[in-house]
Amino acid sequence: MNVICQYCGNLAIYTDSACIYGRSYGMVYYCKDCNAWVGVHKGTDKPLGILANAELRDWKIKAHASFDPLWKSGKMKRHRAYKWLAEQLGKPRNETHIGMFCVEDCKRVVEVCSGCKI
Ligand SMILES: [Zn+2]
Repeated sequence: MNVICQYCGNLAIYTDSACIYGRSYGMVYYCKDCNAWVGVHKGTDKPLGILANAELRDWKIKAHASFDPLWKSGKMKRHRAYKWLAEQLGKPRNETHIGMFCVEDCKRVVEVCSGCKI
């Protein structure tokens, strides 16, 4: 599969994640110039989302840290929590995956989750 790096527009290389992490966690699409990468769905060459650089990786961690407790605490079922998040962000449910989000989306996640009183 051809995966384009959204930061520089070059073709990302399909490589083992060992060249990033030092040990293998499976295959990734990797752009060396941007230090950006994305994993693949297990057993396929389908990327999990868009390539993430250091800034986006950081925001995804923050987004997960804000959002995951909503359903991990058991207050909300996981699918309910995602449905709620989709509504907050005005996105279709099937596009509501933090793995697919850009920096702006992740910032919105942190914002809406910090205001969530459930
Ligand atoms: Zn790039």
